[in-house]
Amino acid sequence: MPRTLVTGGAGFLGSHLCDRLLAEGHEVICIDNLITGSIENIDHIRDPRFLFIEQDVTNYIYVQGKLDYILHFASPASPKDFENFPIQILKVGSLGTHKTLGLAREKGATYLLASTSEVYGDPLIHPQPESYWGNVNPIGVRGVYDEAKRFAEAMTMAYHRSHGIDIRIVRIFNTFGPRMRLDDGRAVPNFVRQALAGEPLTVYGDGSQTRCLTYVDDLVEGIFRLLVSDCQEPVNLGSDHEMTMRDLAELVVRLAGSASVIRGENLPPDDPKMRRPDLARARERLGWAPQVPVEEGMARTIQWFRERSARS
Ligand code: UDP
Repeated sequence: MPRTLVTGGAGFLGSHLCDRLLAEGHEVICIDNLITGSIENIDHIRDPRFLFIEQDVTNYIYVQGKLDYILHFASPASPKDFENFPIQILKVGSLGTHKTLGLAREKGATYLLASTSEVYGDPLIHPQPESYWGNVNPIGVRGVYDEAKRFAEAMTMAYHRSHGIDIRIVRIFNTFGPRMRLDDGRAVPNFVRQALAGEPLTVYGDGSQTRCLTYVDDLVEGIFRLLVSDCQEPVNLGSDHEMTMRDLAELVVRLAGSASVIRGENLPPDDPKMRRPDLARARERLGWAPQVPVEEGMARTIQWFRERSARS
């Protein structure tokens, strides 16, 4: 049975990965310091092959026994987190990556780094292939996340080159679905919460900025395929269905059956104007393409938010 460590395993993506790895027959050790992750995300797991450890991975990590895979997903990741946890983000991307790579070296484990489309910053080429070096403001408010992940990629490559670690790097584009934090400040949870409460939807700027939204199940499938592939180069994973934030707000209002109106608010600094992955590498190397249309994923997400707010 493969034995796998997931850092950030109580977070939105990490917890879905724990579910998937258990379903694939792995024994799973989940480490999370719960600053943005939540026990609620892993509470449903009643499996003797699952172990949760509350720990900050920027400190020395001790794991007894073998490890076949390490997936480093720990990091606050929403623009609101960039303001609230800037130093924690820089530390988990740098020190946390160093510690987990050291553990991978010690155990001879395959190492998968959760990187991000933010390495491309506010991109000057469109769509973004993995060969693009990006356009990042290192001292801007988003720089804490962007530079932490760029450093994490550099560190991962250094361990690969210097120590022969078997590595994977996934550049994750905007992903949504059940278990997103209701108050993480991102467009999807904001819009869904606002639509369900009958409040105005806060569209920043003129709403013409674009994103491609990937449903979480598609992303998890891509990450699992990458993990078991032999691809040691960065791979973009995300939807390539591009939409404006105004269109997203309108879609959420329609699917929620809401009477909410749309209200303009100030655009945050360094907000990328457009973002869309070039998926050629994911297609060629992993045979992967997103399957779930945004309407379908959004309907499931709205349903989850409804049930979630009925519980609390
Ligand atoms: N956005 C918005 N209203 C909100 C939250 C976000 O218009 O209430 C915009 C934000 O300015 C950005 C886009 O939606 O252009 C996606 O933001 P999100 O925080 O989801 O993720 P990002 O892709 O910026 O990391």
